Amino acid sequence: MTDALAPGSTIGILGGGQLGRMLAVAASRLGLKCHVYDPAPDGPAAEVSARATTAAWDDEAALTAFAEAVDVVTYEFENVPAASLDLIESIVPIRPNRRALAVSQDRIDEKDFLRDLGLATAPYAMVDDAASLDAALERIGAPAILKTRRFGYDGKGQARIMAAEDAAAALAEMNGAPAILEGFVEFSHEVSVIGARGLDGAVACFDPGENRHEDGILRETTVPARLSASQRTDAVLLAAKILTELDYVGVMGVELFVTPQGLVVNEIAPRVHNSGHWTQDGCLIDQFEQHIRAVAGWPLGDGARHSDVVMENLIGDDIDRVPEIAATQSALHLYGKAEARPGRKMGHVNRLTGPAR
Ligand code: ATP
Ligand code: MG
Repeated sequence: MTDALAPGSTIGILGGGQLGRMLAVAASRLGLKCHVYDPAPDGPAAEVSARATTAAWDDEAALTAFAEAVDVVTYEFENVPAASLDLIESIVPIRPNRRALAVSQDRIDEKDFLRDLGLATAPYAMVDDAASLDAALERIGAPAILKTRRFGYDGKGQARIMAAEDAAAALAEMNGAPAILEGFVEFSHEVSVIGARGLDGAVACFDPGENRHEDGILRETTVPARLSASQRTDAVLLAAKILTELDYVGVMGVELFVTPQGLVVNEIAPRVHNSGHWTQDGCLIDQFEQHIRAVAGWPLGDGARHSDVVMENLIGDDIDRVPEIAATQSALHLYGKAEARPGRKMGHVNRLTGPAR
């Protein structure tokens, strides 16, 4: 642990949502402090952190003061502008590194990277206008999905194209933003691997979870996922390959489609991931502590699972069910958000379904 941050050190977190909140709670258990930076005041993470800066992403004085006040910077939000990161990085290390962030911010760069690693992805093509969309549809065929290259989350910035006549409407939904056309992958189900890599290069992955989405938003993750032994091995090995190629430090989420031809990579997220929330109650060291350990230069936990878990997201009005859920033997994790808007992630609940199988 030569490069390890000592207890009492401070981790800077870019982004102040629920992921930042759970990172800060995990850090506090290790005697580490967190300093959150977010343009919005009073977010879920600031409430449980030692310090918070409320300032715009382009506020150079605030970014400088933040970087000077912390020992390492990590992020829970991928869309921090490059210029802000340049400034921070001139003062303090950013983990995971800039390349991991750049690759995962742009769906074309991400797929090029995955293909170059020899991993399977949906067929894809760059789309900037009607002519390039026609050409892409000609090559890839329908059904297909048009997505903005950047800034998508929870299924936002996506339009399905069931047949060629849907093309114009789908393109209009992109609002002129650069886009990617992806062929529709005929998957039987979706799984994800939450992997981690330490400063010393050690890799540890949690068992794959099986993910069910509703209206483009993750609804439920179940471990163990339905996978054969060889699929399970493939999933973990491909996650390790991605982490190592990127010289990654921290936790990453790798979303996969399960198909009869094998595993197809959907996307990677360079941060703790909603589909890894089950680890809070299914593992001795969860994804949040694992990420903090990695960015702080500590040894990683081994990722072993002691229990089978079903994680359910509490979205919008689901928060009204909390009194009823609280009366059952299950672990509630609430984010402290005052207002329950439709589609807003308010918390989640982990139900243990037995000892690990
Ligand atoms: P999130 O932030 O929830 O991960 P996102 O907005 O980044 O989502 P994607 O992961 O690209 O979006 O897509 C959301 C969901 O849409 C996927 O989990 C999958 O169910 C479906 N989907 C996306 N791309 C494809 C594809 N090429 N073929 C089939 N289904 C797809
Ligand atoms: Mg996704």
